[in-house]
Amino acid sequence: STFEQLGVAPEILRAIQEMGFEQPMPVQEQVIPQLLSNTRDIIALAQTGTGKTAAFGIPVIQKTDIGLLSPQTLILCPTRELCLQIAGDLTEISQYVKGLKILPVYGGSSIESQIKTLKRGVQIVVATPGRLIDLIKRKTVSLANVHTVILDEADEMLNMGFTESIDEILSSVPQDRSMLLFSATMPQEIAKITKKYMSDPVEIII
Ligand code: AMP
Repeated sequence: STFEQLGVAPEILRAIQEMGFEQPMPVQEQVIPQLLSNTRDIIALAQTGTGKTAAFGIPVIQKTDIGLLSPQTLILCPTRELCLQIAGDLTEISQYVKGLKILPVYGGSSIESQIKTLKRGVQIVVATPGRLIDLIKRKTVSLANVHTVILDEADEMLNMGFTESIDEILSSVPQDRSMLLFSATMPQEIAKITKKYMSDPVEIII
């Protein structure tokens, strides 16, 4: 299939064509239509390098309400490097989508400037769990309008000891949100999270 057949909007097609994406990768063929049709919960077993960033990035960008300057999608990932990588990829994919604001939120950088940007308004937040908790505690970020949560490299986040932080973050977002979890492995702790936070998830194995 083509990206167009998957339902990708013209301004995003233009950007990904320029990025050299000619054909959707398998994870994109599976995830893009699911997210665009508002499937509630998805578990995807996929390694890095399979195209998973665009698989969630494209539909999440397309579903954003540009007129609502408040976080609508929350992407959680284990490291600062991955956080910057995801935010960079999403910025490139959304280069022709006017008014879309993406903020990477991670530790080891100025929290003041992240707070300032949040105040001006963003729709997509890409965050490492620790720094996001910090912002939630300072009441400088509202997750009340979040309708989609992506957990990227979920197994890595659990390995790094973020289980409690993830619990705390997920309890601050509305109950009726969609959740998409990516993991390279499926240990018991992942099964626990999916049981606790997902209802009848669609499973995708790449
Ligand atoms: P990821 O698994 O998200 O880290 O993506 C791996 C690499 O594949 C990145 O460099 C992407 O830019 C690239 N990529 C993602 N989707 C496509 C596609 N449909 N066609 C060609 N390259 C792609």
